[in-house]
Amino acid sequence: MTVKTPNDNPLPQAEHEHVRTGTSPRALKAAFQDNLNLVVGRPLEISTAEDRYHAVALSVRDRIMQRWIKQVERWNGANLRQVSYLSAEFLMGPHLGKEMLNLGITEHARQAMTELGLDLDQFIGLEEEPGLGNGGLGRLAACYLDSLATVGYPAIGYGIRYEFGIFDQIIKDGWQVEVTDKWLRFGNVWEIARPHFAQVVKLGGNSEHYTDEHGADRIRWVPGRVVVGTPYDTPILGHGVETCALLRLWSAEAAQSFDFADFNRGDYYGAVHEKVYSENISKVLYPNDEQIQGKHLRLEQQYFFVACSIKDMIRLCLRRGLPIERFNEMYCIQLNDTHPAIAIAELMRQLVDKFALPWEQAWDITRKSFSYTNHTLLPEALEKWPLPLFSSVLPRHLEIIYEINHRFLDEIRIRYPGDEGKVERMSIIDESGEKYVRMANLAVIGSHAINGVAELHSELVKSQLFADFHEMAPERFHNVTNGVTPRRFIALSNPGLARLIDDKIGDGWLTDLDRLKGLETYANDTGFQQVWADVKRDNKIRLAKIIKHRTGIVVDPASLFDIQVKRIHEYKRQHLNVLNIISLYQRIKHDPKYVGTPRTFIFGGKAAPGYFMAKLIIKLINSVSEVINHDPQVRDMIKVVFLPDYNVKHAQNIYPAADLSEQISTAGKEASGTGNMKFSMNGALTIGTLDGANIEIREEVGEENFFLFGLTADQVASLKTDGYAPYDYYHGDMELKQAIDLINCGLFSHGDTRLFRPLTDHLLHHDEYLLMADYRPYVDCQQEVDHAYRDPAHWTHMSILNVARMGKFSSDRAIREYGKNIWNIEPLQ
Ligand SMILES: *Cc1c(COP(=O)(O)O)cnc(C)c1O
Repeated sequence: MTVKTPNDNPLPQAEHEHVRTGTSPRALKAAFQDNLNLVVGRPLEISTAEDRYHAVALSVRDRIMQRWIKQVERWNGANLRQVSYLSAEFLMGPHLGKEMLNLGITEHARQAMTELGLDLDQFIGLEEEPGLGNGGLGRLAACYLDSLATVGYPAIGYGIRYEFGIFDQIIKDGWQVEVTDKWLRFGNVWEIARPHFAQVVKLGGNSEHYTDEHGADRIRWVPGRVVVGTPYDTPILGHGVETCALLRLWSAEAAQSFDFADFNRGDYYGAVHEKVYSENISKVLYPNDEQIQGKHLRLEQQYFFVACSIKDMIRLCLRRGLPIERFNEMYCIQLNDTHPAIAIAELMRQLVDKFALPWEQAWDITRKSFSYTNHTLLPEALEKWPLPLFSSVLPRHLEIIYEINHRFLDEIRIRYPGDEGKVERMSIIDESGEKYVRMANLAVIGSHAINGVAELHSELVKSQLFADFHEMAPERFHNVTNGVTPRRFIALSNPGLARLIDDKIGDGWLTDLDRLKGLETYANDTGFQQVWADVKRDNKIRLAKIIKHRTGIVVDPASLFDIQVKRIHEYKRQHLNVLNIISLYQRIKHDPKYVGTPRTFIFGGKAAPGYFMAKLIIKLINSVSEVINHDPQVRDMIKVVFLPDYNVKHAQNIYPAADLSEQISTAGKEASGTGNMKFSMNGALTIGTLDGANIEIREEVGEENFFLFGLTADQVASLKTDGYAPYDYYHGDMELKQAIDLINCGLFSHGDTRLFRPLTDHLLHHDEYLLMADYRPYVDCQQEVDHAYRDPAHWTHMSILNVARMGKFSSDRAIREYGKNIWNIEPLQ
């Protein structure tokens, strides 16, 4: 039986009824059945849920491809400047729900499935997440592709098609255990392999001089081996528009010709070994926060995808009939951190060695093409490669880097005669001890624009990290505060809230987030507050069920959901959160008449596999959780949950259910944060430090709607120079002392008094991230939160204002700023 809908057109060939491209429920139903039978090859009756997911996904993909094809036709020939977003990570999240949302077909698809007795949401839930990123940086790249498509800039995101993405996290005995992520196990319907655009990449070997046919002295790179990069394309549709961005990920394969040579020599196993070795390059994503310095394969990975991408751009440039001298008119290349910074040397190599352009001209083209986004000030996260390693993988690039450096340092010596300290600091080569190539310096020197990712961060980039460069050329330094896509993080994650907003202010806000301002009028409307609170409550009930299902822990949706989800890192200070929980626990234990707001503390996040302290923090959270959740005296007041395997899919259920967002990094350490934005957009209030984008969020939502505590970045710096003594705080604050002592006495570790010693000792004697100093202000601020939550009307009022004032943090705004200030291009829409 077919249900009549407004879109049900009697003309079977009308566009929206077309089986491959139509968007009516009837067309989608027919498409599903066709794909299930003819592509998946299964009859409906005996098909599995995975089969059906595939059929739905293929049906959606058809509709995207139709738009993609039209766009390629439209853009071909038009001489448009294109954005090439180079990123070693793209943390896309599941595609199906988001693509249906952007196509505007979710309800029709749901109806089609219902008519077949099937549940669309089950299929959406089945999709394996392509976890091709670690956290914020990779997720930012994904949000930016969504916005590039929606705002309408021609754009390709270039990256690596890792066979194994970020590991899946399971918790055993309270410890993190890593499980390989086999996201390609059941195939990936969203991508299309393009073997005819494959590129050959050289590695190792040496460079040599030769005389070309005009008698000129030239240099060429004679590689030790070569690998082939095959691109896999995934079009990323914008919201409510016909434009797509393209995600082009490179997969490494063995070069056929090399194999054959070995076959002929009869070295079959040698050839197979070569094949395996080559394929290793795109095998696995490196977890960040770890010492990756010195990892040969990581450098090969970076160069591999960069070389493929630059060659791909040159191919497109020449195909369009543009001479190579006009490369920079066709491309803006954005470096997402230093991971792809070797692209600067690679473009120089192509222009100078291959196209025989004079050095000065090649350098001019290169600098006009590149811009660089810095994502961190943490010294251990700044990439540098030991010279011997670098020269063994990229001998010719090292020569080119020497030449870039030599010319640059000559300029410095002329401008600042006698200032050898400056020369040392600005050099691409670190010669202070063992020699290194500093990728950040290469990125700055080779780019026309450098930006930080939040106002404070950009200021610190200018005043600390790149102070010498800033002094020399201040006009090249910018700020673009990060943003997130409201399509995934409001509409898809929180449909209840989206509907409520639609009802009040119409649906234009999803692509023009400043319109949320329209909600301010209703912030005091008790009727509206009630439905607002109902949406939050429903989201909390949904998350409570997930918590029960995944951890067995029963939590009360009426309690305050206090959530900290993000990578586990000492600078993010999950252990400060734990210290507050332990203090609260102590208070309840010692005071039988204690009244407070019942809370559920929820944590989630992965630790880098080699990061011992982060893993110990996960163990501590789980140990505290075990004790508190089983203590009859406190368990109705507080619960502690560690939700395993934090990823985009799980994030979508978590952000909408939060009352309180924990953004408690040491001031000056979190470059921007984007989790903070997602929480606030979903109506959570923030408890946070003046760090990263927290500062701007607080400015936007109003200081009265934000729980602020802790040292400022300036205070952190001066406390450190004046000599910081964490021990004094421990002795000066009874509650703090008790919390630390309680950990040390073995209460949370079945009497083991040594388990957490590395953590507590570090806090008492080093405390690099100043937990001891920020403990008291944090705990007191949490008391304010407690009081505020007991006035539900006022809390909801603040929650509404948070959402209403988040317009700035749409990634559409960020992308428009890049377009205007950095890429110098106009959007098409
Ligand atoms: C947004 C997001 C992050 C970044 O969170 P921060 O709180 O900014 O560190 C990390 N991982 C996932 C899965 C995300 O969605």
